Amino acid sequence: MVSGHRTGTAGGWPGDGSVARSYEGGRRLAGVPEGDAVWLTARRLHTALAGRVLTRSDFRVPRFATSDLSGQAVTETVSCGKHLLTRTDAGITVHTHLRMDGSWRVQPAAERASGGHRIRLILANDTWQAVGYLLGVVEILPTADEQRAVGHLGPDMLGPDWDQAEAERRLRADPARPIGEALLDQRNLAGVGNIFATEMLFLRGLSPWRPVGEVADLRALVELGQRLLDANKERDGIVTTGSQRRGERTWVYGRAGQPCRRCGTTIRKAEQGDPGEERVRAWCPHCQD
Ligand SMILES: [Zn+2]
Repeated sequence: MVSGHRTGTAGGWPGDGSVARSYEGGRRLAGVPEGDAVWLTARRLHTALAGRVLTRSDFRVPRFATSDLSGQAVTETVSCGKHLLTRTDAGITVHTHLRMDGSWRVQPAAERASGGHRIRLILANDTWQAVGYLLGVVEILPTADEQRAVGHLGPDMLGPDWDQAEAERRLRADPARPIGEALLDQRNLAGVGNIFATEMLFLRGLSPWRPVGEVADLRALVELGQRLLDANKERDGIVTTGSQRRGERTWVYGRAGQPCRRCGTTIRKAEQGDPGEERVRAWCPHCQD
């Protein structure tokens, strides 16, 4: 399935529904799209929309229900952390975010889009339509004001202007904060979600509860995270072990109660994070401290 999607994209077919399916694929393991999946979504939207004039826009969110971008040409779609920015030649940006359940599907313009009640936005040209399902954020803003939407974010781990030193500086600014929490804060690094954070910490032998100020080699941790995201951005689903086989793709994420792949100790799990934002963290109590 994974390779099929990639060949499909390379062959000039921008989606064939693969955007939506990739999140179903991701959900088996994860739940929430992380920066790598958003990067891939941006590329698929870019392939379908960029350089073409919108013949139809359909905003199914109350605030923008009467907005119409038809006649504007899309110049590009880019990702910024987990945010998606689709820009037009009229100086307009459509800002979307997948949050927990969102996905984008690209299909031929002439085909009827399924799942009507879940659709939040359709952007179409005479060849393709991009259909956004259950998007957590849909808004239109002037491209000049994009900072309003993404200005709070830390360095984008998959962005052209990735700034390792700035990411480390932001993490260090709150030395008492548990590293597991700090890694997930998009104001520190944009793009990391729970799977990557969990796996990064295992691979560096760090407990999610260790304070940032007591992480001996923060640089190595951040570098590893950037490499993991980059290595995963072209594929659907996340692999950190090097094995594509189902059930072998992660070291500790999603493996609570099972033996550690390195030492055999039972993987533990617990919640971490501020009230209302707790995430389940998995770790090996022997390999990570
Ligand atoms: Zn272990």
